[in-house]
Amino acid sequence: MIQIDPQFVPMQFNTALGFVLISLALMGLTNNRRGFVKYIGITSILLGGLTLIQHVFGVNLYIDELFMKHYITISTSQPGRMAPNTALNFLLSGLAILIMSTTRISLTKILVGSFLGTVIVGLGSVAFLGYLSNVETAYGWGNLTKMAIHTALGFIVVGLMLILEARYLSWKTQQKTPSVLLPLILSVLGFTITICLWQALYASELYIKTQYGIKTKNFVAEGILIFGGLFSIVIAIAVWFAIRSREQLMSLRLAQEEILILNQQLEKISYLDGLTEIPNRRSFDAFIEKEFGRACRYQHSIALILLDIDYFKAYNDHYGHQMGDYCLQQVAQTINNMAQRKTDMAARYGGEEFALLLPDARSADAEKIAAMTLQAIANLNIPHEKSKVSSFVTISAGISVCVPSIDTTIKELIHHADLALYEAKAQGRSRIVTTKF
Ligand code: GH3
Ligand code: MG
Ligand code: MG
Repeated sequence: MIQIDPQFVPMQFNTALGFVLISLALMGLTNNRRGFVKYIGITSILLGGLTLIQHVFGVNLYIDELFMKHYITISTSQPGRMAPNTALNFLLSGLAILIMSTTRISLTKILVGSFLGTVIVGLGSVAFLGYLSNVETAYGWGNLTKMAIHTALGFIVVGLMLILEARYLSWKTQQKTPSVLLPLILSVLGFTITICLWQALYASELYIKTQYGIKTKNFVAEGILIFGGLFSIVIAIAVWFAIRSREQLMSLRLAQEEILILNQQLEKISYLDGLTEIPNRRSFDAFIEKEFGRACRYQHSIALILLDIDYFKAYNDHYGHQMGDYCLQQVAQTINNMAQRKTDMAARYGGEEFALLLPDARSADAEKIAAMTLQAIANLNIPHEKSKVSSFVTISAGISVCVPSIDTTIKELIHHADLALYEAKAQGRSRIVTTKF
């Protein structure tokens, strides 16, 4: 398990340890254990950073075999020391973990976390590709220790997990993924792989040239550099545009839905009276138009009751406009409850005038309903000191009933109800007068 193939490089103990720590950190991040994750981040930075210092400056800090003596003999630069690219990956992983373990997650932190994760995926992928294609320079830098194949695979996973972690954090804190995230990941991945492959091929070319003295020049490495670079840029731009246009489409759709809801609300408002919340004059006009036509076509009787509060001006003067409004609301609701059949309709016709339209009703039916309405209003027991007919609020009703013929008009129906109401007022109020025509 340490060296999965005799031809391949073994994984060093420190590398294995680093993987365990990073896995714990990733679990800690998702479970919100920031304090402990921070220390792992620092440990990983130290592990990678110190090893890199050893490689770069050729010093020995005695950390390679700190926990475990290296016992697999293979031509490594230093027993127990992890490869420089492995060390670099631990340094980057540690940085990413440290940044994402801070309490205040900003867009920059999310982008930096994703960036580092992507570079790690890139470095791991190139090393892994090196094993697959037998290009040693892809996983080994110079004559230093090389990255093991399972280390390469491990870093692909770690990098992907870091990218996912950044995405998760951005969802948790901002409820969305920034639109630059995917283009950033794609371009960074493209560039990392391109540059590493170019370097690997270049080094390999150089090695063959010096080893075998072959002078012929091929442009594979340069080709990869140019093609990979261009490809990374193009794909990033294309994806960015795609994401942007999708976002715009989404917000457009959202706005459309909002408009639809507003429209429905507006429609509702425009058919209801603001004060009493029963249908207004506009809906009454539309309704009577329809029902009158139907009555004419089927030669049915149609009845209209106009209702008017008695001495309401005096009520307003005595109790105040606000009490007047409240009285209107109660009266309106009571009248509205009288429209019991599906085709019946109550509406606020004017200031303190209401209409009850009863399609298919004869005068006896209309009178019955009018009487019930008058009674219901009386039962409200709204005190009215200034009324000359009662000590409570009362109403008068004028009914007109007809079976419309081709030349009967709605105006006539209303006019007759108005005349009847006038008559009811003249006869002393709080009563019903019917006209048939
Ligand atoms: P009558 O018995 O002959 O119907 O007498 P009246 O005083 O009720 O009749 P009039 O038409 O002279 O007065 C109607 C009053 O209704 C006038 C106005 O102040 C009041 N009114 C109309 N609309 C509203 C309203 O929305 N709120 C309030 N508080 N009062 C209103
Ligand atoms: Mg009145
Ligand atoms: Mg009136």
